[in-house]
Amino acid sequence: MFINLSNILIGHIALHWGYVLPDITPRIEVAFLSPLYESKEYISSYIDYRDYGLILFSFFVLFLLFKFLKHFTHSYKTFRIIGLGVFISILLAVTFYINPIREFEPFSVPCKICTVMDDKNKIDQIMIERAKYIDQMKIMKAKQKNQIYDKIIVVMGESVNKNHMSIYGYSLPTTPFFTSLQKSNHLYVFNAIAPTNQTRYSLPIDLSEANVHYYEDRYLHSCSILTNFKANYYETFWISNQGRVGKNDSSISSMAYEAKTTLFANLNYLEAKTDEVILDYLDKLQKNSKKEMYLLHIMGSHSDYINRYKNETALFKNTTNIVEQYDNSIHYTDIILSQIYERFKNEKLLLIYVSDHGENINMENNGHGFLPAFKDEFMVPFVIYSNIKNPRLDEIYKDNKKGYFNLENLNYMVQYISGITNQKNLSFSHDVMAVEPSNIVNFDTLEFYN
Ligand SMILES: [Zn+2]
Repeated sequence: MFINLSNILIGHIALHWGYVLPDITPRIEVAFLSPLYESKEYISSYIDYRDYGLILFSFFVLFLLFKFLKHFTHSYKTFRIIGLGVFISILLAVTFYINPIREFEPFSVPCKICTVMDDKNKIDQIMIERAKYIDQMKIMKAKQKNQIYDKIIVVMGESVNKNHMSIYGYSLPTTPFFTSLQKSNHLYVFNAIAPTNQTRYSLPIDLSEANVHYYEDRYLHSCSILTNFKANYYETFWISNQGRVGKNDSSISSMAYEAKTTLFANLNYLEAKTDEVILDYLDKLQKNSKKEMYLLHIMGSHSDYINRYKNETALFKNTTNIVEQYDNSIHYTDIILSQIYERFKNEKLLLIYVSDHGENINMENNGHGFLPAFKDEFMVPFVIYSNIKNPRLDEIYKDNKKGYFNLENLNYMVQYISGITNQKNLSFSHDVMAVEPSNIVNFDTLEFYN
């Protein structure tokens, strides 16, 4: 019965997404971490005749089993003893003989469900606590005349190592749009490091008052810049091509829902298409206000890189290695940025591009979240375009000559440049978080990956 029922779940995943995942945990997360109304939505869009067929088939197998057992010639007692023996041995094997049985589906399914449910409870508590705190928070409002921009757009990139961007000196033309903007004298290219090499910590640290040394409490007890801009007469939008649910995405979703309008293209990042979906959302949005602030969370250069760009516009058409694929993803993001710029260039625009963390990459290997960490995982772009004269930008650009910024205080910088706060609060700290909040290291002591 157990194998049969687990197979319904696994069969369902295989039918709708193909059984190529090394791990079905993300799918279990989607099923269990979605609120109820979304589960209903899920059932209507992802359950079809094939699943009913699978369920009918499974019950048919159970029926055959029942028929067979009914004609079992041994006494009920013998059957009971054999059954108990088999049951206990499976239980012992699953419990104590951890590898490889526990790793195998369907034996791994109950274990994974338990872990996901446990995470869900923790995440729910954090979300509720944070939402309550923000609801009763008093936010400082700026004078209305201080809002110098009509459109503020923060593009949060993903896994971008700035050493693969031509605007930061890379030998291949991966960022032609930024290079062309540089001629306008309105583009500011900063030296900065990411506060951590993990997405789920970097966005809260970049966008709320949490920082490298004070993470959890400050994240729970501060709002993100979305609430700050909302309180300062901006209509706020969070548009994401990443996932909404799951252990990795929930700390981010909590901030996403501070925006007036929150749009997620996917429940889970595994479903993500290329980043042009963000442009479609921008075009379809109902716009009610002159003053708007957007947080665009893109897939950028998330692995697998080959899924992050369109071959028609790629720098390398027939890639032979992952470095070329990675460069194509950087190049594609440059195209997306140019498209975002085109949509807003005629208004008083502040466009900010950063990445959550960098990436280690060479011909053989790639990734982030390494322990010990490497410098490459923190070397992110920080680029600002402003089509109006802004003395605060020139001032910050001069400050950046003294040393690179730690993006742990990006939240203050964005508000300061926009004129909604007078606190500059730059961070020149070299301390970064490697993988976990408990693990703080000095960036200068880290090695380069290559
Ligand atoms: Zn990331």
